Amino acid sequence: MIMESVEKPGETLARGDGDVAGQVVEHLDAVVVGAGFAGLYMIFRLRELGLSVQAFEVAADVGGTWFWNRYPGARCDVESLDYSYSFSEELQQEWQWTEKYATQPEILSYANHVADRFDLRRNIAFDTRVISAVFDETTNRWTITTDNARRVSAQFCIMATGSLSAANTPELEGLETFRGARYHTGRWPQEGVDFSGRRIGIVGTGSSGIQCIPILAAQAAHLTVFQRTPNFSLPARNKPLDPGHYATMRANYPEYRRRARESPTGMSVELPVKRTFDVDEQERLAAYEAAWEDGRYGAVLRAYTDLLTNKTANDTVVEFLRSKIREIVDDPEVAETLGPTDHPFGTKRSCLDTGYYETFNRENVTLVDLRKSPIVAVTPAGIRTSDEEYPLDALVFATGFDAMTGAVSRIDVRGTSGRSLKEKWASGARAYLGLAVAGFPNLFLVTGPGSPSVLSNMMVSIEQHVDWITDCITTLRDRRIAAIEATAEAEDAWVEHVNGAAEATLYPRANSWYLGANIPGKRRVFMPYVGGVGVYRDKCDKVAAADYEGFRMLRAETAVEQARI
Ligand code: FAD
Ligand code: NAP
Repeated sequence: MIMESVEKPGETLARGDGDVAGQVVEHLDAVVVGAGFAGLYMIFRLRELGLSVQAFEVAADVGGTWFWNRYPGARCDVESLDYSYSFSEELQQEWQWTEKYATQPEILSYANHVADRFDLRRNIAFDTRVISAVFDETTNRWTITTDNARRVSAQFCIMATGSLSAANTPELEGLETFRGARYHTGRWPQEGVDFSGRRIGIVGTGSSGIQCIPILAAQAAHLTVFQRTPNFSLPARNKPLDPGHYATMRANYPEYRRRARESPTGMSVELPVKRTFDVDEQERLAAYEAAWEDGRYGAVLRAYTDLLTNKTANDTVVEFLRSKIREIVDDPEVAETLGPTDHPFGTKRSCLDTGYYETFNRENVTLVDLRKSPIVAVTPAGIRTSDEEYPLDALVFATGFDAMTGAVSRIDVRGTSGRSLKEKWASGARAYLGLAVAGFPNLFLVTGPGSPSVLSNMMVSIEQHVDWITDCITTLRDRRIAAIEATAEAEDAWVEHVNGAAEATLYPRANSWYLGANIPGKRRVFMPYVGGVGVYRDKCDKVAAADYEGFRMLRAETAVEQARI
């Protein structure tokens, strides 16, 4: 039993036995891990409640995704007016987006503006990685330890660690021998990189690769693109925001935001009413052509209701998009290689680009089909495939992330009976509502596995989770509850529901990061919830209204616990 003295939240004092002699533990109400958009808003809400809160962030500053992903061409593919916070009317009225799709620097300055405007930095320790979080059943508190030896005790631990923040570099033979410079799009140097006159190799043709390939090609002496799976991409048709449209939008923001919250994807858009084969081919092609011209994320999928459930229907989109690639790309063999054949459209996250396919008409660009000639090794001079060696001065990995579970699993999280979360998730990610995990009381995940998360406009999903967690914590404090924990039964039922929802769609037919298929050895489980943002919000609200159905609550039993909550 750990001996503790009663102290006020936020005070720093030494503890008795159970702690390493002489180590200082700071006692707080809540710890937030991560200072991206989720962490920033979580700090804001917890502080509003009057709780003492400490956030830890590996990076040197706020922004999360937009701090790390500084590769050339990085920008949003959800429109700026949607990809922004809605919690503060003043904020959304005063902030001025300039383009339909904001660039990474603009989004990062927005994150900085939010941090400054709400004075959030004073609660964040930067350059600090959380390495462990251990739950103590005797006190119902978490002990959080950082890589600079800080130890903090908190009633609540909120993982705002990001769904796409644990960068993944493939373990290629010989990688360490490469003499040139190496980069990962998700860990891009802050000072930028001058590629002029250099021979660049890029591995990966997901959203990051597709955004930076055209720009790298324009900068480099030569660009070699190593493609494993061809991806679908549509033109983004980015443009400056029209001031008139912007003014109208601003005047109607509350209604616009409401519609987004209730929508399937967190965006206020028209939904389809017809099925693919309710119309003839001519009408269908006209609809796809309009979606191609539209330039909004998901426009094609919104043409018909059944495109993600009916393979034959989906094939019509695939054929349309492949024909577009053939129209744009001069060399028929290259066009064929760029055309996806192995997965239905939309089952891997589709991309929006600016001049992606056109780039392959440039003299200084080579496409290497890794399906035909896989990478054998990285050599000191470049990349060797089964066919050829490609000499390179720089190697860019646009190879994505250990998505949805990676960042949390890189922390040694221990729940009741010392159980490791990483070990629990080794047989597949499990969480109740994507928010809480059985066996890990008072731990919350923002946009965790089992929530709509990465299938949505993340800003909407982040706000919804943070608001739900805040309401939950408010209830616990009001009722002097020491701990809340998802039950194993509720978690099982939710995971089954999430799997069932995914199985009813075409999503599981792709080897996507949604399934963890990009990480060797990761258990294949479809992680995000396909039920839609609005439906999901409703379910979460009902759980809360039914006195947190599926959760178990533990009353504060000791005087120490009661004093703390
Ligand atoms: P993040 O922004 O990832 O922040 C998590 C933070 O936690 C990071 O700063 C990380 O350093 C920190 N962290 C992690 N582990 C630890 C630890 N152990 N200790 C301390 N700190 C830790 N979503 C959209 O909706 N629309 C888009 O157009 C879009 N574009 C994207 C483009 C790119 C290039 C990428 C990678 C993602 C994009 N996303 C997009 C998803 C994007 O991740 C989310 O929109 C959003 O930024 C996530 O915010 P977050 O705070 O949840 O996570
Ligand atoms: P990604 O979608 O996972 O793409 C990674 C790419 O690297 C894929 O082409 C993958 O091929 C390839 N790859 C991985 N390991 C490889 C290996 N060992 N050998 C060869 N190729 C390998 O990652 P991402 O492009 O960084 O995007 C991740 C997510 O972030 C996106 O889906 C999106 O949600 C978000 N994002 C959004 C934007 C935007 O436009 N707003 C921009 C960037 C990122 P396989 O397909 O064969 O696995």
